[in-house]
Amino acid sequence: MLRWPAGWAERAQRVERWLLPGACLTCGDPVAEQQDPLVCDLCRLRWRAPTAPICHTCGEPSPMGLTCRICPEWPAGFEWARSAVVLDPAVRGLVHRFKYDGWRRLAEVFALPMVPLLREAADATLVPIPVARRRRRERGYNQAEELAQALGRVSGIAVAPGRLWRSTETTSQTRLGPEARRANLAGVFSAAVDDRPVILVDDVFTTGATLVSAASALLDAGAARVLAVTFARAAAPLAGATAALDSVIHPTLREAF
Ligand SMILES: [Zn+2]
Ligand SMILES: [Zn+2]
Repeated sequence: MLRWPAGWAERAQRVERWLLPGACLTCGDPVAEQQDPLVCDLCRLRWRAPTAPICHTCGEPSPMGLTCRICPEWPAGFEWARSAVVLDPAVRGLVHRFKYDGWRRLAEVFALPMVPLLREAADATLVPIPVARRRRRERGYNQAEELAQALGRVSGIAVAPGRLWRSTETTSQTRLGPEARRANLAGVFSAAVDDRPVILVDDVFTTGATLVSAASALLDAGAARVLAVTFARAAAPLAGATAALDSVIHPTLREAF
């Protein structure tokens, strides 16, 4: 029986995806020629920015004006993080395709709503969050770097992927809680000595732990300030709920929650 070399079918599929303008990746409807062929205008209009008011440091929505649970321990030079859209189910589907399914051209689509987030940071350099070497090999690209390059093209801001790298490999973050994520990430990144300000770029903000670890390495290596932008932000209803509980529950009872 004829056997194709390992990975051939997958590579051929990726080339096909590069060449053929398909239907909208969210709704499946055919897309008009003048629109971007990956996501239709209607589906993009449905993307929502994180709801105001947001924490002025980490950008997390804080509807009750309570003390932020995400950023009190962020290093002083990590000034702020912002995300363009909320990770609702449709956006989550697109991000999944971007990361795991070969649709690297989605970087161009994701970069557009991120441009307004850069208005205070024109003097900085865009630095993508590096992925583990094994993951990069499997996917053939680093999605954060694709995003940083696309953002560089539309904003005119320089991209410097070489300023940050992974010094150790980590286990997957997806099943870890916030504390375990922080422990898993301590000392993971190393940075080149450079005092220019940095804008970190990643696809999704979940707990901010990865960004904090990367920002710490860059600040230790002399970066004047670190900012961060992500395309999407995972909703954290639990964090909001526990913050609300903390404000009304006596400390001795908190353990029960
Ligand atoms: Zn659509
Ligand atoms: Zn915050």
